[in-house]
Amino acid sequence: MTGHSPRSATGPTSDRSLPSAVSPTSDRSLPSAAATDAVVIGLDLGGTKIAAALLGPDGTVLARHTRPTPARDGAAAVLDALAGAAAAVDPGRLATALGIAAAGVVDPRTGMVTSATDSLSGWAGTALGTGLADRTGYPVACDNDVRATAGPELAALMADGGPGQQSLLFVAVGTGVGGAIAVDGRMLHGAAGLAGHLGHLPSPEAAGLPCTCGAAGHLEVIASGPGIAAHYARLTGTPVDRLETVAARAGQGDAAAVRAITTGAAATGQVLGGLANALGPDRVVVGGGVPRIGPLYGDALAAAFAAELMPPLRGLLPRAPLFGADAAVLGAAALTTVLPLHHPGVLR
Ligand SMILES: [Zn+2]
Repeated sequence: MTGHSPRSATGPTSDRSLPSAVSPTSDRSLPSAAATDAVVIGLDLGGTKIAAALLGPDGTVLARHTRPTPARDGAAAVLDALAGAAAAVDPGRLATALGIAAAGVVDPRTGMVTSATDSLSGWAGTALGTGLADRTGYPVACDNDVRATAGPELAALMADGGPGQQSLLFVAVGTGVGGAIAVDGRMLHGAAGLAGHLGHLPSPEAAGLPCTCGAAGHLEVIASGPGIAAHYARLTGTPVDRLETVAARAGQGDAAAVRAITTGAAATGQVLGGLANALGPDRVVVGGGVPRIGPLYGDALAAAFAAELMPPLRGLLPRAPLFGADAAVLGAAALTTVLPLHHPGVLR
């Protein structure tokens, strides 16, 4: 899911190897920010993998399960696989609700997947909320995976960020560029659930290049992992299959590799800086797999970000996510406390 499943680019998010300019933070695997006061199931649906966890009232992971996403088999098969993953972590039916963080543009109010690329066949138009509620018997809360992942980051900011700190700008850079925006304590969903798709803001560096959304010149084209690899190929005439290959060549002094990485990073920083001026975030978080390639990326992003900031925001630094590999399932579980629940049988 281009733009919606950035974590799958280079594996789970980790706080351990972030670039120097992205402030290091503690690794919280059992955050109070994800506490739900009940036993709940969190599901994370990506283009290649489904992750499930059963979470206790304090956010403790009681059980885990992963299985491949049947991405080519249609929406019903994906919903069946999600239900199977839920059953696998909760054989005793302890959970009172289920939250799912899903690839695609998801409207949490209607529970519908309002748009999706073809990384999941037939995913657009799927009744995710009621479809999963009917298959599992649990009330279901659903949202886009990046927004769900950002939820605990917002909760943590509001809990310990200081008085009045409740505006968050979150970007996840991986196979796509996704994001989430919270202003004055409220996560923005927008028309059709589209709010936060930062990868589809225009970027001068991407001018004229076609985007996965059908438009051209968007940030994702130049800044996602595949976008950086494609940029390197354009610069050198040498195709590369993976961002990691470009990063390794940059480490060996390959000027084109350095340029492809810093261009993508700076484009992201520039867009984030402009958005920061528009939204006034108290915190800016840069997650996803791409920033983990090293300080070359983080330093270029931070410099471009800082160059855009208006005076009241000067000193604001992009930082790493607080939550590690469990961020998506924790965020999915937390959705059950803040979003509308879709109940079994409603559409029958
Ligand atoms: Zn686009």
